[in-house]
Amino acid sequence: MDEFDVAVVGGGPIGIEMHAALVAAGKRVVHFEAGRIGHTFSWWAPRTRFFSSPERIAICGVPLRTPDQGKASAEQYGDYLLAVVEQFGLNIKTFERVDRIERDNDGGFVLHHAPSRVGVGGQEIDEEIGFGAGERPVRARHVVLAIGNMHRPRAVGVPGETLAHVSHYLGHPGDYFDKRVVIVGGKNSAAEAAIRLYRAGAHVTLSYRGDELDAGRIKYWVLPELVWLIEKGRVEFVPETRPVEIRRDAIELAGREGRVVLPADFVLLLTGYVQDGTLYDQLGLDRIGESRRPRLDRETMQTSVPGIFVAGTASSGSQTRAKVFIENSHAHVDRICRAIAGVGVPWKLDEVMEGLGQLDEEM
Ligand SMILES: Cc1cc2nc3c(=O)[nH]c(=O)nc-3n(C[C@H](O)[C@H](O)[C@H](O)COP(=O)(O)OP(=O)(O)OC[C@H]3O[C@@H](n4cnc5c(N)ncnc54)[C@H](O)[C@@H]3O)c2cc1C
Repeated sequence: MDEFDVAVVGGGPIGIEMHAALVAAGKRVVHFEAGRIGHTFSWWAPRTRFFSSPERIAICGVPLRTPDQGKASAEQYGDYLLAVVEQFGLNIKTFERVDRIERDNDGGFVLHHAPSRVGVGGQEIDEEIGFGAGERPVRARHVVLAIGNMHRPRAVGVPGETLAHVSHYLGHPGDYFDKRVVIVGGKNSAAEAAIRLYRAGAHVTLSYRGDELDAGRIKYWVLPELVWLIEKGRVEFVPETRPVEIRRDAIELAGREGRVVLPADFVLLLTGYVQDGTLYDQLGLDRIGESRRPRLDRETMQTSVPGIFVAGTASSGSQTRAKVFIENSHAHVDRICRAIAGVGVPWKLDEVMEGLGQLDEEM
């Protein structure tokens, strides 16, 4: 069986940064990603832009330049990640999913992995999870789980949620041209979707459980645009409503005034995503709080199982209010590198990142 110092699971920005830091520190690394590099950005709606500015999501000290010096799109960032992987010569085993991790007898771990068609998270789900698992296991002294946390949609739990015209993902805005679309949600994703779909020619209604849009949950440059569209009657807003049933051509909402049935060609349930904690449970990690995040030593990001570390959004469990992002996860990489290799990352962790480290403590 092949032996490594460290196994990294997850080929998102933080997994890549982790791999590069450990190699620079002289460690032998094996790295698995269930899909393509940066899989998470491949399922965002086309041309969705980051909210974070480029310098905050740049990794490994490599500048991220965009054509207009603005926020990067998912596509631009996906290409940037490929370039970083190439530049650092990182060998990532893509389309290989880690299905099981076991402790071995001498304090290390055995990782069982299998070919997979897609990454973890997004509309497409690999039905053949577990197929061939255990054929070519590898052994590693330490494991860093950088598996992200948007693995499945947060189910609303109403009849009709699985009908064909209902989705938890925005998809291509042009698909909704001249269609009646009811969007359920009140955070960034729902607000952005309402604006984009209106501009793509859809007839948009936004249903939100709160009595007004929450400035704490929608970016300050997105909110005024949406409020203006609502005030002008271009997007219909139905506050204090919750879906109770979705039918083939309509959605029934319950509100303070009683129930209302709105015609709908499409229903978008943009109510967030949850983490799949299967690997955590297999390993017997302590998990805490409503988010079911792994219990971590903040200095090292080590879990309750010595030798298992967690980096990036994987550390936050299922976030109801996002507090862990790429920008405050660079510090995780530095802490883990120090714990495993005794040295920090070889690139500069600038004051932007240090300031954001505090956010991390609030988790
Ligand atoms: C519309 C939208 C906008 C966003 N905007 C921002 C923003 O502006 N700034 C920001 O910081 N964040 C933003 N986010 C969140 C962002 O996606 C995460 O912060 C980021 O992806 C976290 O990086 P990560 O490396 O921790 O995890 P991910 O990028 O999620 O990477 C995890 C990887 O692990 C892989 N994986 C999981 N399980 C396994 C397994 N068992 N075996 C092998 N591989 C596995 C997955 O396929 C995935 O590629 C946004 C999200 C959405 C949906």
